[in-house]
Amino acid sequence: MAVAGTILIVEDEADIRQMLGFALTRAGYPYREAADAEAAEVYIREEPPDLILLDWMLPGMSGVDFARRLKRDPTSREIPIIMLTARTEESDKVRGLEVGADDYVTKPFSPRELLARIKAVLRRTAPERAQQVIEVEGLKVDPQTHRVTVEDAPVALSPMEFRLLHFFVNHPERVYSRNQLLDQVWGGNVYVEERTVDVHIRRLRKALAPHGLDKYIQTVRSVGYRFSTQPKF
Ligand code: CA
Repeated sequence: MAVAGTILIVEDEADIRQMLGFALTRAGYPYREAADAEAAEVYIREEPPDLILLDWMLPGMSGVDFARRLKRDPTSREIPIIMLTARTEESDKVRGLEVGADDYVTKPFSPRELLARIKAVLRRTAPERAQQVIEVEGLKVDPQTHRVTVEDAPVALSPMEFRLLHFFVNHPERVYSRNQLLDQVWGGNVYVEERTVDVHIRRLRKALAPHGLDKYIQTVRSVGYRFSTQPKF
């Protein structure tokens, strides 16, 4: 189960920041960007991100030194770091991981490769968040047992509909395009057509309809879908 989180990009090259930002937005991850360690530190103190993409070669404090510092500080220790490195030598990779980076990608990398790493790191570092029972207005979603109930009455869902609903209740009020849902719920490596999303949305609504909750799965015209307990406007 993918969990979207806020990602902080720390990279001095504007082109790469832009490319990363574009890929993250397409995949449904909100992000902030910083050109050096100093600017990044301000963001991290303001609002800790769920993951940091950290360039190895930064002006001023290097990415490795910054990673070491973040991993020593109790307030930032838990934030996973993926190092972006142009270096391919084994000793450098080892050094990056030794200072506490959770993973690294070597430039040039494809957005798809990077997104797969991000997803894996978030899944690994946030297991407790993904395992919690979520309750929204009488709707209870239990990721451990895959059981869904409404006011204690069971709702029968296929595994795919369950994943879709679990993703939605974890990310309420945000609109996701079909492409973003494919990335987040189906996983990046599967080639599925966008209309597959529509099919599963329809089934999910049908399963929730007897409980009067199909209205929570809202269509946002020409954009995608949103889970919301607010009336559609
Ligand atoms: Ca750089």
